[in-house]
Amino acid sequence: MRSVNQDRARGKVLDTLQPNEDLIGRDWAMKFLPLQYRSDNAGCYHSSYGILSVTALNDNPFNITVNRMDFSDPQGGKSICDRKAAHVKACIRRYVNEGNNVITAIEFKSAVEKTMKNVKVVVALPPSSIKSSKTSKIENISFMYIFFFSNNEITAWKQFEIGIGKVFSSKSSNEIPSLVKKCESTVVWGTIVQSSMNTSIPVPVTRNEEIEEEDNICSNVFTCPEDGCIATFLKYGQLCNHLDRGKHTYPHNNLNIKERTNQTCFFNGKQKSSAEKVLHSSTTHALQAESTLKKGWALKNKREVKRFSKEQIEYMTEKFQFGESTGYKCDPDEVAKEMRHVKNSKGIRKFQLEHFLSPSQIASFFSRLSLKKRQASNTVYDDCDMIAEESKTEMSQLTVLANTVQ
Ligand SMILES: [Zn+2]
Repeated sequence: MRSVNQDRARGKVLDTLQPNEDLIGRDWAMKFLPLQYRSDNAGCYHSSYGILSVTALNDNPFNITVNRMDFSDPQGGKSICDRKAAHVKACIRRYVNEGNNVITAIEFKSAVEKTMKNVKVVVALPPSSIKSSKTSKIENISFMYIFFFSNNEITAWKQFEIGIGKVFSSKSSNEIPSLVKKCESTVVWGTIVQSSMNTSIPVPVTRNEEIEEEDNICSNVFTCPEDGCIATFLKYGQLCNHLDRGKHTYPHNNLNIKERTNQTCFFNGKQKSSAEKVLHSSTTHALQAESTLKKGWALKNKREVKRFSKEQIEYMTEKFQFGESTGYKCDPDEVAKEMRHVKNSKGIRKFQLEHFLSPSQIASFFSRLSLKKRQASNTVYDDCDMIAEESKTEMSQLTVLANTVQ
């Protein structure tokens, strides 16, 4: 739900975009091997520093200002970036298959420049004088997703178009002087020159043309891959535009259950069958139950940190070490089951109900242990990597869960 609501922000910006305005999509991605594991970590730009520097950047002589910054929900909403990233990755793979190496940033740059048209590679490093130690912090920044910039103020929202937002002052000149000073000397302002258009790549389409094609639903070559969307297009460029704008066309009978019930009642007039009456009353029940939810129920919660007890840690470490020494890794599912009836030397159950752990808790503890082991042998791993690996484990568990639910 958060993901869909956050996506509306992009739609609104695109709808009201003026000729002198621009929408920039940003994503953090690793695009070539060899790479050390990092997660989909938005921390590098969704941070107090990233937000506050915008006000410093807005203070430039070129009359270019950043009006707003919207962050999509984690793991979603960046479909534009993902599509472009997939394209870059494919080109790099092809370049490597042609007998070239892509190991360093320089090689990556030349690979992109040699294989792709209309793509510009820019190396953007932070000015060297910047140390993150002295910046002021915006509290709970990771829970805020929408930022508006005006003269000396930043207004932040947790969700798009919900609530009045919270106002911060942004006296950028006091807080990040080094960036303001360095900006002018290190950032190169210039124009990106487009090389000649290749005919096989998406052809720009005018708005009118696209709207015309959308009316002609289901009869064209290119179909939208979005679930439930019925738009089809004659030209590939039109499909790309449609995907980038994210305004999908759903069939008109795609009503929710209440609307459908109302419609049925309307058509049947007063001669409602008893079955429909039941359906109707049960729906209203469901809706009433829904309205008792507390305001803000869909917002992201702070993650509660629970510490494992000494016994739990000992037990899991023992299981892990057994796996390490024998080569037969313990299955977290099995360990979780075993925990429920394992007994100590006196024949009493080792763990009580409240100390049972779920397979995912055990799996994440195992992954932490294996990371610690790797960390001991490889000093390049740091806390960041630990957190990244943990969230990766969590993500894969969620994926498995989502797949089983389907
Ligand atoms: Zn669509």
